[in-house]
Amino acid sequence: MKSHDVMVIGSGASGGIAAKVLTEQGLEVLLLEAGPSISGSDFLTHHMPYNFPFRGVGSPSVIRKEGWLAAREQTPFDGYYTKSSQHPYSTAAGKPYKWTGRSRILGGRTLHWGRQSFRLADFDFKGASIDGYGVDWPLTYAELSPYYDKVEDYVGIQGFKEGLPQIPDGRFLPPFAYNCFEHVMRKAARKKGWRMTALRTAQLSRPHRGRPACHYCGSCSSGCAVGAFFSSVAATIPDAAATGKLTLQTDAVVREVLVDQEGRAKGVAYVDRNSKEEREAFAKVVVIAAGTLESTRIMLNSVSRNHPNGLANSSGVLGHYLTDHFTAGQLTGVLPELVDSEILNDDGKSNGSYIPRFRNLGQRHPKFIRGYAIMVKGGSSIFPGHANLIDGFGTNYKRQIKKLHPAIVRVYARGEPLQTFDSFVEIDKKVVDAWGIPTLRIHYQRTDNDRDMLQDSFQQLMELMHTAKAEILSADESLSSPGEIIHEMGTTRMGNDPKQSVLNKYNQAHDVKNLFVVDGGSWPSSTCQNPTETIMALAWRASDYLIQQFRRDELL
Ligand SMILES: Cc1cc2nc3c(=O)[nH]c(=O)nc-3n(C[C@H](O)[C@H](O)[C@H](O)COP(=O)(O)OP(=O)(O)OC[C@H]3O[C@@H](n4cnc5c(N)ncnc54)[C@H](O)[C@@H]3O)c2cc1C
Ligand code: SF4
Repeated sequence: MKSHDVMVIGSGASGGIAAKVLTEQGLEVLLLEAGPSISGSDFLTHHMPYNFPFRGVGSPSVIRKEGWLAAREQTPFDGYYTKSSQHPYSTAAGKPYKWTGRSRILGGRTLHWGRQSFRLADFDFKGASIDGYGVDWPLTYAELSPYYDKVEDYVGIQGFKEGLPQIPDGRFLPPFAYNCFEHVMRKAARKKGWRMTALRTAQLSRPHRGRPACHYCGSCSSGCAVGAFFSSVAATIPDAAATGKLTLQTDAVVREVLVDQEGRAKGVAYVDRNSKEEREAFAKVVVIAAGTLESTRIMLNSVSRNHPNGLANSSGVLGHYLTDHFTAGQLTGVLPELVDSEILNDDGKSNGSYIPRFRNLGQRHPKFIRGYAIMVKGGSSIFPGHANLIDGFGTNYKRQIKKLHPAIVRVYARGEPLQTFDSFVEIDKKVVDAWGIPTLRIHYQRTDNDRDMLQDSFQQLMELMHTAKAEILSADESLSSPGEIIHEMGTTRMGNDPKQSVLNKYNQAHDVKNLFVVDGGSWPSSTCQNPTETIMALAWRASDYLIQQFRRDELL
């Protein structure tokens, strides 16, 4: 059977970048994707709720059986969001984890991600040196910076340059203009001594590399039919295919990585998604990019004589140090100066604003380490979500909804969780998925630092809303459930010490030279910025290193 140069498992943000970079440098790549294929023209981007029997929400019986995301009628594609019945997992008693927003489809979660894109700060790479907690990253901002440049040039990220060290500037497309509520909130933020900037997003403010600019239809969560926001289907996969070096195999649910007598990766065993037949595929180098938890699951399921505790797990660290960002408090309110003002089309554009982290940048906070950013959302989107927050009925109720429509603002904090060894995943041999593959049991533990951060962030959110003279409609003073933010990190952490980490600073397994893991699993700390731009920069850097090592015959 043919052995490819490289096999990439997973076609989402990280796998797409790896496939593009490797094929463009002339390597023969087999891209294995568990889900079915989809193309941009399949999306129902401009469909309205009234086009669907259940108004887009889905039938109650499907919601009960498969979960509310899989039931959505705007995205009737198998795997756009996974079905609960096919993808079970378990959690430890008293340690809830919502493994939500999962995808099993070509392009993975890039089909519906929120597109918010930030660089990490220089100080994010050396948190342990600053406050003594955890470990520093084995690489510096300066080493990753050229890859942020490449990602931004390729992906197309719009945003303002702010000169702030917390969110270093990059090579941005021209920014979208601020909406009315953003002007009001920027003034309030300024009074608090903070800078509020528009969210930087992987969404095109002008045509870029053959993809058109956004036309503000606001249907992003149903997928963008024209490719105006970055997805693997709109960019990396067509680019990789255009090289003639890509073999794409969809419907290939990888069960485990196969190893040779010396414990080196030689290919994978996978199950055909439709026929459920067992198959194998081979390559000289294996790149795992199935998303943090799925990649870890594949590795924990890859048990052999050389790797009795899972692939590349001589450290015993595989599966440990799981984190997911958290929302630390949330407020929705009304900005009086915008009540009854003109309702404009605020859909689509950039999806809100951002107050970058301001805690523990110089002066230490007495109660907690690290920090949080504040998200500021609002404007009159096509669906008036605030209707559920106000009382009334009939004509007066409708009038009230309309009056408040342009004036709604929502603020919430997005915090950095600390990584701990005690938050981990293991294989639950008793539970298998629809393809007979053992699933994960997740043990997630919140820290006191998370809770102390919440106290501070909630107070700051309140003060921000009071400064903006907002009338509060609803207040939530809690941390989001672990998993809910869908930013999983850790479990295959990188480091210089093979006894304390799974991967080296190039995302290459310490124990298995021809194995790379390029998704968010490698992060040795979580920071509070959205992760995907950094995941893509790391995947690009790992791919460049792989090519260099491959050409020198260093990987076999
Ligand atoms: C609603 C939503 C909003 C988000 N918003 C943001 C945001 O604003 N900013 C941000 O930075 N991040 C955001 N994220 C997170 C972002 O989507 C992920 O960080 C990113 O997609 C991770 O890339 P990945 O390659 O690791 O995984 P994915 O993009 O999930 O890709 C993994 C791929 O692997 C495939 N796969 C899984 N298991 C197997 C297997 N066994 N065999 C073969 N293939 C397999 C999957 O089908 C999938 O195609 C959001 C996510 C969601 C769901
Ligand atoms: S708002 Fe823009 S990016 Fe979103 S779906 Fe519409 S065109 Fe695409």
